[in-house]
Amino acid sequence: MTLEKEVWLQNLTWEDVKQKTTASQGTIILPIGSTEQHGAHLPVGTDTMVANAIAEAAALKAGILVAPPLWFGWSPHHLVLPGTITIRAEVLIEVAFDVIKSLSNHNFDKFILLNGHRIVNVAWMQIAAERAKRELGVKVIIFDPAYMSKEFTGDMEWGEVGHAEEIEGSHMWYCHPDLVKMERARDNPHQHDRIYHVDPRYSGDTLCYVPSSPAEMERLAEKSGGTSGESTKASQELGQKYHQHLVDRMLEAIAFLQKLA
Ligand SMILES: [Zn+2]
Repeated sequence: MTLEKEVWLQNLTWEDVKQKTTASQGTIILPIGSTEQHGAHLPVGTDTMVANAIAEAAALKAGILVAPPLWFGWSPHHLVLPGTITIRAEVLIEVAFDVIKSLSNHNFDKFILLNGHRIVNVAWMQIAAERAKRELGVKVIIFDPAYMSKEFTGDMEWGEVGHAEEIEGSHMWYCHPDLVKMERARDNPHQHDRIYHVDPRYSGDTLCYVPSSPAEMERLAEKSGGTSGESTKASQELGQKYHQHLVDRMLEAIAFLQKLA
């Protein structure tokens, strides 16, 4: 088995898991993404795949395990296009809690919920994390690439956080070049609305979150194939730098979690 494969819990025997639990001080990453439309050029599994890529690289360096990923998130706004699967937020809270509870039975007590699906997953993940901490006595942190790359992406010639835009496209192009169809990428530049911002880098007042309506999403699908942002600006090279930044920050987050009282 390659070293990359060995970081995934599902590839190990229970005896190996037991040994690794001790060696990792009970630390494990749970990647959580989505299965939803990602424009005409990226696969529907994009959010989970990027979370998996960061988790695998960081776990390998830190000597910890990665739990099987949760391939589903909360995506009702993307149901307008095929391939999207959404799970109700209240169900996701229960699933994440049960995963943590199961692992905590056998001495995992430090969890990193690695979110590949941005702002819409964060709300329910916070509820699950708080409940796990309160009811199980475990330590949980949430790591979100859009928020954990503010310093880095400020220096890039990238626009705001959107959907299937140049940020996600660059990351996927680096992690899974065989799954990206750049020739199909379509731009849909941001409107720079003063009130509604989902980009953590925005310097003005936030957060006035406006849930997307089905009509709005249909317009998005027609206009750009489901993209918001400038998808054609994606770069494999910048994707590699972005990935490395996130792996480095993830390693810091793991060290922080292991020292947390
Ligand atoms: Zn995405």
